[in-house]
Amino acid sequence: MQEDTMIFASEEDDVRTVTDDYWEILIVDDDKDVHDTTLFALNGCEVLGKGLKFFHAYSAEEAIAFLKKDQNIALILLDAVMETDHAGLDAVRIIREELKREDVRIVLRTGQPGQVPELDTITDYDINDYKPKSELTRSRLLTTVIAALRSWTQIKRLEASRQGLEKIVDASNQFIAEKGLQRFAEGVILQMAGLFNLKPEGIVCATNLSSGDDKDYQVIATAGEFASFINRFVPEIENLKVRESIIESMEGQKTVLRDDSITVFFKESSGRAYAIYIDSPKPLNKVDNHLLEVFCTNLSLSASNIELVTRLKRQAWEDQVLHIPNMAALMEEVQKWHKTGEDFILLLLDINSFSQVNDLLGHEYGDELLQALVDELHHQLPHSPFIARISADIFGVFGPESDLNENIINRLTSLEVAVRGDLRELSLSVGVAHISGIDNNASELLHNAFFALKQSKERSEPVYYNDDIGKRTRERITLLNDLKADFAEKKLFLVYQPQIRVQGEDVYCFESLLRWKREDGTFVSPEKFIPLAEQSGLIIAMGEWILRRAMEDLKIIHKEGFATMKMAVNVSAIQFCHPRFMDMLDQVLEDTGLDPAFLELEITESISIMSVKDILKLLEALQKRKISLAVDDFGTGYSSLSSIDRWPVNRIKIDKSFVQQLDDYEEGSSIVDLVIPLGKSLSMNILAEGVETREQFDRLAKLDCSEIQGYLISKPKTLPELLEWLKERESKS
Ligand code: C2E
Ligand code: CA
Ligand code: CA
Repeated sequence: MQEDTMIFASEEDDVRTVTDDYWEILIVDDDKDVHDTTLFALNGCEVLGKGLKFFHAYSAEEAIAFLKKDQNIALILLDAVMETDHAGLDAVRIIREELKREDVRIVLRTGQPGQVPELDTITDYDINDYKPKSELTRSRLLTTVIAALRSWTQIKRLEASRQGLEKIVDASNQFIAEKGLQRFAEGVILQMAGLFNLKPEGIVCATNLSSGDDKDYQVIATAGEFASFINRFVPEIENLKVRESIIESMEGQKTVLRDDSITVFFKESSGRAYAIYIDSPKPLNKVDNHLLEVFCTNLSLSASNIELVTRLKRQAWEDQVLHIPNMAALMEEVQKWHKTGEDFILLLLDINSFSQVNDLLGHEYGDELLQALVDELHHQLPHSPFIARISADIFGVFGPESDLNENIINRLTSLEVAVRGDLRELSLSVGVAHISGIDNNASELLHNAFFALKQSKERSEPVYYNDDIGKRTRERITLLNDLKADFAEKKLFLVYQPQIRVQGEDVYCFESLLRWKREDGTFVSPEKFIPLAEQSGLIIAMGEWILRRAMEDLKIIHKEGFATMKMAVNVSAIQFCHPRFMDMLDQVLEDTGLDPAFLELEITESISIMSVKDILKLLEALQKRKISLAVDDFGTGYSSLSSIDRWPVNRIKIDKSFVQQLDDYEEGSSIVDLVIPLGKSLSMNILAEGVETREQFDRLAKLDCSEIQGYLISKPKTLPELLEWLKERESKS
């Protein structure tokens, strides 16, 4: 019995009075005697404060069946050899791998010393202990059981602590959401409960820094039976035990241990203090006391991390260059005021040609200019409204309508700012949207203001959003999306309109014109969708496709016996200015194998947005390839005729609007009467488009116009229609 006493003495801390709680132990053995001796040896013992309760299985199969139903077994005393030589080990494998019971402790017992399993098996399957049955005297058996149950407890605690840690980590990740601190606090309760093997019930209080009163302790998180205490101020808590412990802890800035509770105190680097109260049915032992210290140190570190995370959060709301609120912050602010129903408006300010300033004078200068603008805005606008940076050169100003009246807004279209000692005049586009105009959320207000801003750019004055602007913009967006989709699905197609020489009336060229037929059979005019494609950049891909298609179709026309025909393709200014335009053109010509001399490009005077130098370079490159050039819509363009005389172009196309005017004017008095001699004097060919009547034709012929295009000759036709038309015309001549 000496041995037994020793064990009890050394395990004094762990063997206490029986509670109604007990450890469940499963004895698995095909020998009934073993069950009996085990019971005899262990009956009435208490381990780690709990009694023992036994269950019995007489084969591995029976044991597995039992474990499938019972989730509470902490320890299995398992016979190695039963129905088969491996029955015990097989059962271990099933328990660990199939039943996924990783926590349950297993002590393997065997009759013969030769049946010792491999060491690998013992570690792989986490077999707690391996014992020859001869060693299972009362004291040794008890030691084994205590060790196994202790290890089970640790596993359980680790598990709970891990869950607590997960919550804490999770809290750090949630810095955007306000819940960050609360999740952290909940994690702390869980972790503490796991660590000290207590029920996860408790409350966390913090000093309320925002109130400026250190004594305003408030409950910020709760768990279990304390749930109803959430958000309450500590002095108001009726539970005397809880209230006193927390106040003692907070005022003494220390951890308070009582017989039936633990109140942990810690502080984070910002100075905010925390007290966590948790019920503990028994006082902590020495080991746990030490653990508590480590835990508290850790806590203040973690809490300071939360602080750090809060700082990160601040950064997420701030523009990194100008240190003013960013778009996300503006959205928050709008959302806040939206709920109150007050009369607020949002202005979006866009600096006109800011990118040029940036390109010419550098980014640093650009940043200084933006800063100067923000300063000037604060100077100009009363009652410091909310000013945020939305994108590179767009700012949002959000404030009460009464502060941002029409006069003030009008002043914002032109501002003088000081950069590096120089005064610089900035021109701004301004879009305005009213918060009462939105139903849903902040982003709707931003959208509306953007729509208005876009209009403002076109009109060069502040634009106030209204339903009409919204409707038109939304229609355009829908139309553009449809266009993109239909273009991607190759639903657009080309038609070709013949051009003839006045002399002899022979066909020499076709103009390719793009067509878009909607699902419902209606056509959208290119005058409507080409500008959309241009604004969205879609024209680049579209233009390449048009050129390729037109060239391929021209090859077919040549093969069908009309080998001298040329093709005129419209090129938008956006396409023409694109840096890769020449490469694209060369590639298409190479791929289709057509002689470039068969290609004519129709450009408009709007290409003069490019520098004269760049235009001339491109035009010369085209000339070198023998590609001919026509200036489309001649006479309608804004550019002066003066620049055109320097362009190496082959042809000018008189716009159909001038041709149609012919009918209203006496001979010699129409614009055409002026323009044709002008073109001639520049030694260019003159083509008149939109010719619908013989009278028009005759008058143009008399004016020495060289080429004609229009319904009089033919409407634009699909390729098969065109081939048929050509053949018929050929057969007539
Ligand atoms: P545009 O280049 O000035 O094209 C001439 C327009 O006049 C075409 O309209 C044509 O169908 C029309 N037309 C031709 N003969 C007559 C006539 O006798 N009477 C009348 N009333 N109209 C006539 P469409 O096809 O609607 O094209 C409109 C504009 O869309 C074109 O003007 C051009 O600027 C643009 N466009 C069309 N296709 C393309 C293309 O493939 N690429 C580019 N970039 N723009 C294109
Ligand atoms: Ca056996
Ligand atoms: Ca044209």
